[in-house]
Amino acid sequence: MISIAIDGPSGAGKSTLAKSLAEKLGYLYVDTGAIYRTIGLYMYEADIDPKDEAAVMAALPNVEIRLSHGEDGLQHMSLNDCDVTEAIRLPHVSMCASAVSAHPGVRAFLLEMQRELARTNNVIMDGRDIGTVVLPDAQVKIFLTASAEARAQRRMKELEQRGTPQPFEEVLQDIQQRDYNDSHRAAAPLKQAEDAVLLDTTELNFAQSEEAILKIIRERTGK
Ligand code: C5P
Repeated sequence: MISIAIDGPSGAGKSTLAKSLAEKLGYLYVDTGAIYRTIGLYMYEADIDPKDEAAVMAALPNVEIRLSHGEDGLQHMSLNDCDVTEAIRLPHVSMCASAVSAHPGVRAFLLEMQRELARTNNVIMDGRDIGTVVLPDAQVKIFLTASAEARAQRRMKELEQRGTPQPFEEVLQDIQQRDYNDSHRAAAPLKQAEDAVLLDTTELNFAQSEEAILKIIRERTGK
C-alpha cells in the first residue's frame, strides 16, 4: 500500500488538492480534519465546552463516527447515524474542532481509525500530524503552506461559495487563531516532518500547486 501524507495549516489548499490528486491517482482521499470537526460538532450540539478535556473525554463514548466514500470519491461523515458532511463546515465548528483536537485522549481515540484506512487502501491523507504521528512511514510527505493572507482569501471564497460569507478580517483572525492553537498544543502539534517536502503555494494557482505535488509524488514513488 502507498500512503501520501499532506500536512499544513488551515486554508493551505490541502483538501482541494488532495481530493483532486486522489481522483487522478485512483487513491482513497482521507480528510482527517473532517473527523475532528465531527467530534467538535457533537460537543457543540451537546453544549459541552470543547476546551474542557474531562467533559469532552466523558462524552466521547457517545460519539459514533462513520466515514464513507461515495462513487464520486467524496468523503461523507456520519455522526450517530446522522449525515453531517455539510454541517461540519460551518465556521463555529472549525473552532470547536481546533479545541477538541488539542486533547491527547481525542487524538488517541482517532489514531487507529486513521491507520486502519491506510492499511487497507492506497491513501492520500490530509491533516496536521499525518507525516509526524499517524503515518510516520508514509512514502510521500508534503508540508503544504501559504501566507495567512493568501489562505484567508481562499477560505473567504470557499465560504462565499457555500453561501456562508464572512468578512476578510474575521476569516484572517480565525485562521491566525487556529494556526496558533494547532502549532502550540502539546499533543501532536502542527509541524513539518523531517522527511517532508515543503511546498509554499502563496504564489501558485491550483494547477501549478497540483503539478508541483505530482512531481514530488513521482520522484518519491517512481510513478
Ligand atoms: O483541516 P480542517 O481545517 O478541516 O481541520 C479542523 C481542525 O481539526 C484543525 O484546526 C485542527 O485543529 C484539527 N486537526 C488536527 N489534526 C488533524 C486534522 C485536523 O488537529 N490531523
